[in-house]
Amino acid sequence: MTKTLTPDICVIGAGAGGLSVAAAAAAFGVSVVLVEKGSMGGDCLNYGCVPSKALIAAARHAQALREGMPFGIGAAEPEIDFEAVHRHVQETIASIAPNDSAERFTALGVEVIRAEGRFADASTLLAGEAEIRARRFVIATGSSPAIPPIPGLDRSGYLTNETIFTLTRRPDHLIVIGAGPMGLELAQAFRRLGSMVTVVEAGAALAKEDPELSSVALKQLRDEGIDIREHTRITHITRLGGHGVRVSFTTGHRALEGTHLLLATGRAPNLDGLGLDKAGIVHGEWGLEVNARLRTSNRRVYALGDAAGSMQLTNAASYHAALVVRAILFRLPVRVRHDIIPRVTFTEPEIAHVGMTEPEARQARRRIHVMRWPYAENDRAHAERRTHGHIKVIATPRGRILGATIVGAQAGELINLWALALAKKMTVRDIASYVAAYPTFSEIGKRAAITYFIPAARKTLVRKLTGFLRKLG
Ligand SMILES: Cc1cc2nc3c(=O)[nH]c(=O)nc-3n(C[C@H](O)[C@H](O)[C@H](O)COP(=O)(O)OP(=O)(O)OC[C@H]3O[C@@H](n4cnc5c(N)ncnc54)[C@H](O)[C@@H]3O)c2cc1C
Repeated sequence: MTKTLTPDICVIGAGAGGLSVAAAAAAFGVSVVLVEKGSMGGDCLNYGCVPSKALIAAARHAQALREGMPFGIGAAEPEIDFEAVHRHVQETIASIAPNDSAERFTALGVEVIRAEGRFADASTLLAGEAEIRARRFVIATGSSPAIPPIPGLDRSGYLTNETIFTLTRRPDHLIVIGAGPMGLELAQAFRRLGSMVTVVEAGAALAKEDPELSSVALKQLRDEGIDIREHTRITHITRLGGHGVRVSFTTGHRALEGTHLLLATGRAPNLDGLGLDKAGIVHGEWGLEVNARLRTSNRRVYALGDAAGSMQLTNAASYHAALVVRAILFRLPVRVRHDIIPRVTFTEPEIAHVGMTEPEARQARRRIHVMRWPYAENDRAHAERRTHGHIKVIATPRGRILGATIVGAQAGELINLWALALAKKMTVRDIASYVAAYPTFSEIGKRAAITYFIPAARKTLVRKLTGFLRKLG
C-alpha cells in the first residue's frame, strides 16, 4: 500500500553529498526523508576514495620496504599477500560504514527509504511504497563510470572502480584505460603491489594539471616501472580465450596484451530513470542545469555533488551540501565558488591544487606574479629523503592569491592552507607572516610567499646563498 510522506526535505542518494544534507537538516530539527537505491555511503565509501586510499596505503608500505637502504634499513622485495591486502581494504570500508549507515541516520531522526527514487511530477517523488511530497528535493545521485564507445569493450570483461576492489588475486598485467587521477592512483598502487601495469591515454596524462608539476609525478610513476602511453588511440579490444584481453591501437603502435583491463575514463552523472522530464528539470547529455545556488530549473529541486557535474570530488559534494542546507533552511543567498575547492591526485608524489593554475591565470589576466619553492630547500624533506617536487603559487601583482599547486610529499595536506587562503581572500603577505612549525613540509609554502618580496635579481642570489649555507651545515 502506498504511504504519503510530506517532509521538509527529501534527499535522493545517500553518498557524501546526500548524507551531509540529511545529517545537517536533521540536526536543525527539520524533517528529512533520505532515499537510497544502493549501498549507504555511495561511491566514496564503497567504490571510490576509501578503498582506493586503503589500497594506496598498502602499496606505500610495500614500497617503503624496497626503499629502506638509504636509511640504513635493509631493502627487501616485499612478499605481497593480495588476499590480505583485499581484506585490509574491506576492513577499512567496514570501519567507516557505521557513520553512513541507515541505523545511524534513523537514530538522527531521518526516515531512510532503501529504494530507487523517481519523480512522478514537479513535486512528487516515488520510492518503493512511498509517495513523497517534500517542500524541497535534493538530487544527490552521484555518478557512474563513463563507458567509451570502443569496439569490443562490452565483451572484454573490463573492471571499473565498482569491481576492482573485489579482486582477491593480484592481476599479473593490468591495463588501465585513462590517465586521470583515478587511473594513475590505481596504476601506481597495483605496480607497487607487484603487478605489471600499462596505462593508455588518448590525450595527455593528468590533463587538468599544470604540466610543470604533473611531469614530476609522471616521471616518478614511469621510474617505478609503469608504462604510460599518452596520445594513444585504441581501435578495438579483444577478449582472449580464458583470461586476458588484447588492446589494439591505430597504426604505428603494437597491440598490447594484459590479464585485466581497468576503465578509468571519467564519470557520467546518474540521472537516468529519475523522471527529470516529469519534474520539469532541464537536462541534457552534459548533465543537469543548475544555477550558482545549485537550484535546478524546478525551483523546488536542488542538485549537488557528482550529479551536478563540475568537480566530481567528495569535498565538493560536502561543500555543495553545506550551501544547499543554508539556502533551504536559512534562505541565505548562497553562491558556489569552485575556485576554493582543492583537488588531490594521491599518487606518490601527490599533486594538489586549488584555484587557478598558471596557464588558467595567464589566460584570464594580463599580469600575474608566480612564486616557487622546491622541496630540495626544505629541511624536513631532506630528513625524509623526499626532496622531489615544488610548490608554485600564483598571485595578482598586488599579492592576492589566485591559486597554488604542489607536487611532492604530503601535497594533499599542504594544500589545505592554500584552500583557506583562497576562501578568505588572503594575500601572500598573510602567508609570509605566519609562524610555521619547524621542521615541516608546510614551510615550503611560507618560503614561496616570502620570495614575493624579494626583487627578481636577488632571488637567484638568495637561492645560491641558501644552498651555500646548507653545505656549510
Ligand atoms: C576510484 C575513485 C577514487 C576517488 N577518490 C577520491 C578522493 O580521493 N577524493 C575525493 O574528494 N573524491 C574522490 N572520488 C570521487 C568521489 O567518490 C565522488 O566525488 C563522491 O562520492 C560524490 O559524492 P555524491 O554524494 O555526489 O555521490 P555518491 O557518493 O556517488 O552517492 C550517490 C548515491 O545515490 C544513489 N542513487 C543514484 N540514483 C538513485 C536513485 N534514483 N534513487 C536512489 N538513490 C540513487 C547511489 O546508489 C549512490 O549511493 C573518487 C572516485 C572514484 C571512483
